[in-house]
Amino acid sequence: MNIKEETAAAAGEEKKAPPTVDILGFAIANLDMTEAAAAAAALVDAPGSRRIVTANAEILYAAHQSPALAPLLRTADLIVPDGIGVVKAAARLGRPVKERVAGIDLLWRLTEWAAANDRGIYLLGAQPAAVAGAAAVLLKKWPGLRLVGWHDGYFDAEEKERLLRGIAAVRPDILFVAMGFPAQDRFFTDHQERLPVGLTVGVGGSFDVVGGRIRRAPAPVRRLNLEWAWRFAQNPRRLGRFWALPRFLLAVERQRRREKHLGQ
Ligand code: UDP
Repeated sequence: MNIKEETAAAAGEEKKAPPTVDILGFAIANLDMTEAAAAAAALVDAPGSRRIVTANAEILYAAHQSPALAPLLRTADLIVPDGIGVVKAAARLGRPVKERVAGIDLLWRLTEWAAANDRGIYLLGAQPAAVAGAAAVLLKKWPGLRLVGWHDGYFDAEEKERLLRGIAAVRPDILFVAMGFPAQDRFFTDHQERLPVGLTVGVGGSFDVVGGRIRRAPAPVRRLNLEWAWRFAQNPRRLGRFWALPRFLLAVERQRRREKHLGQ
């Protein structure tokens, strides 16, 4: 046990596991945004190094299809439903989740918590200008924030060595990784023993939005559950990825029929 583990164990700090619903064999957290942020904050201070996956339909379907990717979700401490497709799937299975918990919202909430509670955060991912822009925006919003470092998400093996040493030197409480799935989760699972980090959160393309390079869908579009369509419109190259959504919904439908058949 390290000092953090001993302190937490002594305080009897290990919290009850949050409620989850099963979608395609993965345990998706059934928490509203405030509860999810509180669960994430608890993970920062829990013993060991923890990880949150912000899963949309594309990620769940990829993990469902690939035995190589499934463990990235199975070994996560918390999987939140980052996408309306996942929220709809839960409802269709008769186990509705409270609400969508988008990675970017979790990033804002956790950063606010980190600023108020003197926890160090590190931003890893996106293009150099995008991550630097995101860092500047966060520091402007919370001048007291302990932003212990940032790095873009494009590096070769040699640079990765330097990056790993750099992160280890500053020991962030929270490492936000914005390199897309599965790269962001693999960065953690491949190097876990070298990363003295309280919590790692994969946040997809969030730094591009935080830094202002990409505009998030306006609130009315989000309220209509059409943020996914907005993102395709902003970046038509994403359209190739669209097909994961109907495939995901078909897989969920198969799960629903199977459960009905088994009388679950
Ligand atoms: N990215 C990166 N390194 C890479 C490939 C991608 O840092 O090798 C970044 C990219 O710049 C973008 C993010 O990862 O900021 C991926 O965003 P995407 O929209 O694909 O993720 P999503 O939000 O859909 O999970």
